[in-house]
Amino acid sequence: PPLALRDPTLLREAAYVAGAWIQGAERFAVHNPATGALIGHVPLLGAAETKQAIDSAEAAFPDWRKRAAKERAALLLRWRDLMLENAEDLAQIMTAEQGKPLAEARGEVSYAASFLDWFAEEAKRVYGETIPSPTNDRRLIALREPIGVCAAITPWNFPLAMITRKVGPALAVGCPMIVKPAEATPFSALALAVLAERAGIPGALFQVVTGDPKSIGGELTSNPTVRKLSFTGSTQTGKLLYAQCAPTVKKLSLELGGNAPFIVFDDADLDAAVTGALASKFRNSGQTCVCANRFYVQDKIYDAFVEKFAEAVGKLVVGEGAKPNVTQGPLINAAAIAKVTALVADARDKGGRVVTGGAPHPAGANFFAPTVIADAKADMRFAKEEIFGPVAPVFRFSDEAEVIRLANDTEYGLAAYFFARDIGRVWRVAEALDYGMVAINTGAFSNEVAPFGGVKQSGFGREGSRLGVEEYLVVKMLAMAGL
Ligand code: ADP
Repeated sequence: PPLALRDPTLLREAAYVAGAWIQGAERFAVHNPATGALIGHVPLLGAAETKQAIDSAEAAFPDWRKRAAKERAALLLRWRDLMLENAEDLAQIMTAEQGKPLAEARGEVSYAASFLDWFAEEAKRVYGETIPSPTNDRRLIALREPIGVCAAITPWNFPLAMITRKVGPALAVGCPMIVKPAEATPFSALALAVLAERAGIPGALFQVVTGDPKSIGGELTSNPTVRKLSFTGSTQTGKLLYAQCAPTVKKLSLELGGNAPFIVFDDADLDAAVTGALASKFRNSGQTCVCANRFYVQDKIYDAFVEKFAEAVGKLVVGEGAKPNVTQGPLINAAAIAKVTALVADARDKGGRVVTGGAPHPAGANFFAPTVIADAKADMRFAKEEIFGPVAPVFRFSDEAEVIRLANDTEYGLAAYFFARDIGRVWRVAEALDYGMVAINTGAFSNEVAPFGGVKQSGFGREGSRLGVEEYLVVKMLAMAGL
């Protein structure tokens, strides 16, 4: 059955370019990953429509940047209110196209909305500086100005939040933003555009171009008018876009893959560690860039942790996200199932012990049973590769220095987690972990006020927090002489 929305006009089968809802010569289908059901079609746009979007954004920039921060904030807050008023429909659309359980989708709607009000307020505090000059013949001032036309390329795992966390600060400080959403989840992005239009945000300021990633991405990265690209997605695509932005020297934010360690020391609160492990590993069925990828558990509590964790994992409810009580939705597509299946087979071949799960789940083609694998070893593929699915490998370790070396032995550096009670250890380990975000005695840490981002090949730039606006600002220095 088609989606039963309170406001069916939120499901828009058109792209939003230059303030108009447009169709392309071709279109592509979007399916529900839980059932395979067709949700609808969106335009398959390319470089020409992207250029049109960039031109209209460029034309809109001078007026938008001149408005008072307070005036821009009022529009963003109106947009936020509309998101919250339509939260249930936004959640329904998200669950239909992305698969996550409705409770998680509702949570994401409010998480996504929180970036609009946070940045609406934060943009009022884009302060400059006056700088004492080394000579008394002049005065030095640093202004912080909007960078110009911005672009965002976003992933399917957080169809709303990955957009508002980029669009919020861009618009708030005075920049127009063009978004290319993931092919799997365009309807959430388009619903946001419907609400932006209703909120009275000028159409050229938030545009959504659906279609072919290569041609849209090609135009966004090569067009010199675009001054900033913010990307969230795979490390592979991120590296390609980084290179494509070099010829026009664009400012970039890259939020790429991770390989999060989750360390449980033997002084940890075991129940808290199990709760944290569930939250970190199984949110969005393991499809987040900060999901725990490698569990390292100290000798003394290894067996107890594996037993309690596997028991809790065995109780997760797998099924279509729209059904009540489901905690584990489908993976996004067949390729994700194939990858997870291969990682589990590789671990089994190398002596891994499947304690629970370990196979596709009968709920449907894109479902995989939540899995715990004990006796994980460094030569198994998931020690190096991002799993992006509901599989938890549990490695054994004995000493602190060893586990820090293992935890840091990856090209990634996004999130790390550890559980310990000894205060000296907590500080030592927190400082030694080579990661952009370290969660201590918790499995969940994302919110609008905390800086989110990675080091190493997990990327650079920070989203959320007071630092989030910096990504869309440039500094202009004024040297005033002739006084
Ligand atoms: P995933 O493998 O998780 O889908 P991707 O990095 O491929 O991760 O996707 C993240 C976003 O990047 C999506 O919006 C996708 O369409 C986009 N994308 C993928 N390849 C390209 C490309 N060559 N140029 C521009 N965007 C791309």
